Amino acid sequence: MYDTVIIGAGPAGMTAALYAARSNLKVALLEAGIPGGQMNNTVDVENYPGYALISGPELAEKMFEPLENLGVEHLFGRVEKIEDKGDFKTVIIEDEELDTKTVIIATGAFHRHLDVPGESEYNSRGVSYCAVCDGAFFRDEDLLVVGGGDSAVEEAIFLTQFAKSVTIVHRRDELRAQKVLQDRAFANEKIHFIWDSVVEAIHGDDRKVNGVTLKNIKTGEERQVDFGGIFIYVGLDPVSDFTAGLGITDELGWIVTDDHMKTAIAGIYAVGDVRQKDLRQITTAVGDGAIAGQEVYKYVTEHS
Ligand code: FAD
Ligand code: NAP
Repeated sequence: MYDTVIIGAGPAGMTAALYAARSNLKVALLEAGIPGGQMNNTVDVENYPGYALISGPELAEKMFEPLENLGVEHLFGRVEKIEDKGDFKTVIIEDEELDTKTVIIATGAFHRHLDVPGESEYNSRGVSYCAVCDGAFFRDEDLLVVGGGDSAVEEAIFLTQFAKSVTIVHRRDELRAQKVLQDRAFANEKIHFIWDSVVEAIHGDDRKVNGVTLKNIKTGEERQVDFGGIFIYVGLDPVSDFTAGLGITDELGWIVTDDHMKTAIAGIYAVGDVRQKDLRQITTAVGDGAIAGQEVYKYVTEHS
């Protein structure tokens, strides 16, 4: 029986493992892919304290390295289900079952893609899903932001500090974003709008993006427009399908926790991007992980 099974070895899960293991708990860290999570898809991280610049994979390695010496068991597998059996939980991975006193869910979120030609080809070569991370690489460029929600509008405003211009393309003629954000965007001279339009394709040369094909969905008209970078904000999806039936998510699938990272089920915690929260970053994931690692120690001690 484990004291805690942590699902997902991104920054949130690795930090939870660090704190739980340093409290002498028996810890399993389960990962379906390579440890590091989304950091493995990040070329440069410039907003992690202590490093002016570090590559995502290097930061991932630095977070993972100390865990082995602390006795954390690193297991490979994709979790399919968690069963709450009261005093303990069972984590089901394909054809294996792990019994544990507590579970920490750290499975992250997935940026929805447009699924248009050129999108995956130019990912990290002018196509980005994170303005906070990549914005500074696009100084004096004409940028396109796709989407009409809070993220698209907020990030478009953020990008104006670097870009020559920022154009928001939205599939309707009215934004979904909060009014206060809309007002700020409409008042910003660097921000332009293209309404009722969708991106049909993303183009570039052998190095990076140089434009898109836009289609007006009311008139059917198509045209090519040049841009030096494309930021896609058409929503995020939590990776929480395997919690179905536990009743710990909101209607969109984000896991709801309190400030101690506790879900509605005693002994089950959630940390990082999968959690219902405002700022999804490495720093906030790490903070959540530290809290949950400490909380499982308290839970295990109180229930032994
Ligand atoms: P993740 O990093 O998403 O890790 C979740 C892990 O869970 C993954 O490894 C996944 O394989 C695993 N997993 C999922 N489902 C299962 C399952 N069923 N069973 C087992 N394992 C599972 N933030 C910054 O602070 N600075 C940046 O510069 C920055 N750049 C970014 C660049 C890009 C391109 C992207 C996409 C994001 C960037 N972010 C950045 C955001 C940051 O990466 C995330 O906020 C952070 O990684 C979230 O950490 P997490 O541990 O919650 O989830
Ligand atoms: P979102 O609210 O789901 O908005 C996604 C936007 O993308 C919508 O405008 C949607 O259009 C558009 N869209 C979806 N699929 C598309 C497609 N295939 N092609 C073109 N456009 C598409 O997502 P979000 O903006 O990332 O926000 C997610 C959540 O985080 C929200 O609850 C939001 O309020 C919250 N958030 C809050 C803040 C804040 O409070 N400051 C900041 C950021 C995010 P339609 O409008 O036509 O549906």
